Amino acid sequence: MRALIAGNWKMNGLGEDAKALAEGLKGLAEGGQPACDLLVCPPFPYLGLVAQTLAGSRIAVGGQDCHGATSGAHTGDTAAPMLRDIGCTYVIVGHSERRADHGETDAQVRAKAEVALAAGLVPIVCVGETEKERNAEQTLAVIARQVKGSVPAGMEAGRLVVAYEPVWAIGTGRTATPADVVQVHAEIRRLLVGLVGEGSEKVRILYGGSVKPDNARELLSQANVDGALVGGASLDAESFWAIAESA
Ligand code: PEP
Repeated sequence: MRALIAGNWKMNGLGEDAKALAEGLKGLAEGGQPACDLLVCPPFPYLGLVAQTLAGSRIAVGGQDCHGATSGAHTGDTAAPMLRDIGCTYVIVGHSERRADHGETDAQVRAKAEVALAAGLVPIVCVGETEKERNAEQTLAVIARQVKGSVPAGMEAGRLVVAYEPVWAIGTGRTATPADVVQVHAEIRRLLVGLVGEGSEKVRILYGGSVKPDNARELLSQANVDGALVGGASLDAESFWAIAESA
């Protein structure tokens, strides 16, 4: 399966930073693109700017979130059709920072993924256990609950991405061990068989959590690891590119 390397820029930088990063990536892409799909998810105010800068390149642009409704009285929120309208093709939903900061539930995350799919976007549905849950040996139970609750059932497999992001590994410099990643990704794949049915093997399962140029190759070579969701290291064009070249 062709890997997806996705950069989540989170709430970092101003317009000039977003433009410079996008231009840096576009320049690297002109020298030849790695054998994987590439995606960047900039902050909302700069999505249009980045989409314009990357137009004509093979680097896709996505939102970091969308609302669970297609339009309406939801002050401050962004609808999936709006993201599609400005050139996005993907959207991250259920990132642990949104689950923690905004109390998003699995049902809300599923609604977001459903409207994203209906709008023609590919949702990247994030799941992952906290450190406390991991220490209590609840990782697989938490993942099962989140996947069953957040992933829309019966969806076209090629249009769905799931990201396993252990919360304790995000932005900490700690990563799950390859053995942990293999175990959790195998469990996600097994759960997807029941949820998606035929073609479930086509759902890309990304790993996220302190992926860097020096650990990417090992993580990306594990079974059922079909790409990476990258936070910190995606803010530097060269680092992001080095990760993509490991895929
Ligand atoms: C993320 O938040 O999606 C992420 C993986 O962040 P980092 O790479 O910085 O751990």
